[in-house]
Amino acid sequence: MMKQLLCSLLFCYCILSVSAQSTVSAEIAEFNSPKIALAPLRFLASDELKGRNTIDPEINVAARYISEAFRSFGLKEVDGIVDYFQPFKVKIEEEVRINGKNTNLVPAKNVMGWIEGTDSILKNEFIILSSHYDHIGVAAEPKMEEGKLDNIYNGARDNAIGTAAVIDAARYFAKHPTKRSILFITYSAEEMGLVGSKYFALHPPIPLKRIIYNLNIDNASYNDTTAITLVGLDRTTADEDIRKACTAFGLSILPDPIQGKLFYGSDNLPLAEKGIPAPTYSLGMKDFGPTILNRYHQLSDEVGNFNLNYAMKFINSYILAAKNIADNPVQPKWKTGDEFENAWKELYKN
Ligand SMILES: [Zn+2]
Repeated sequence: MMKQLLCSLLFCYCILSVSAQSTVSAEIAEFNSPKIALAPLRFLASDELKGRNTIDPEINVAARYISEAFRSFGLKEVDGIVDYFQPFKVKIEEEVRINGKNTNLVPAKNVMGWIEGTDSILKNEFIILSSHYDHIGVAAEPKMEEGKLDNIYNGARDNAIGTAAVIDAARYFAKHPTKRSILFITYSAEEMGLVGSKYFALHPPIPLKRIIYNLNIDNASYNDTTAITLVGLDRTTADEDIRKACTAFGLSILPDPIQGKLFYGSDNLPLAEKGIPAPTYSLGMKDFGPTILNRYHQLSDEVGNFNLNYAMKFINSYILAAKNIADNPVQPKWKTGDEFENAWKELYKN
């Protein structure tokens, strides 16, 4: 009898949580009209931004676009951060001329802002939603790509879509805040060796132990529009919150197609090394073969050949996953035996 009662209670709970997910997913889909939600993707990946190389002036246009989006949504500035910019310098091999001077230290900036949580206790904790907004610029020589001569690495997948998702999440959560606070960061100089995210992890404007989770986004390309890839799947206890969100948008979750190696190649890593559970949310990859490599760091990574219905599901599922984690009273952690488990214990010990 008890067992039956328990089963039916659990069944009710499951039904309730599934229907709660479908209600919120419908709200997110309605809030995020494709015209508005995809505007940052179209802008950041446009030819005018010249591939957003950290050493080119157009990167500043991207940074300003993101900061003014954050301002228009009413995001707060972190103490000590002016204009939503966290400036830092990138060391490069060859000297370039900036403001009439030869230098090999190039100025760059992360862009960040935050939204306060609604729960009197949980609002003291943060989750970070992050992406990198830089890419690899312009090719030395134009090449024929899909029937046209091109020299701009537009980086629609890598990582204008990720930055669009972070901007769209900021716009949504400004109107629908979660229990925990959320810090939104778009990093620069990822393509030069995770420079922006390493700088943030070394100079965090908020104590790291108040940051309990980071859902980063980065991409090479996709070859499965029925799924997302979670780089770091099975490593943290937040997977279930992400899975529920994906299911609500009809998506499944694939693991890193190159046996966990991608985990060490993106902006999630510097915070993971500090102990913060930090996977990377990516477009669906069933393998890392020719259908990924024909776009990854290629001139043909453009909005024109992006499946925009899928882009919307990707963005909306990311927002719902973030909401589930930010509202879950249980703090996520690394699974037992993970290489970052000890760093986690060290970071969050009282
Ligand atoms: Zn890249």
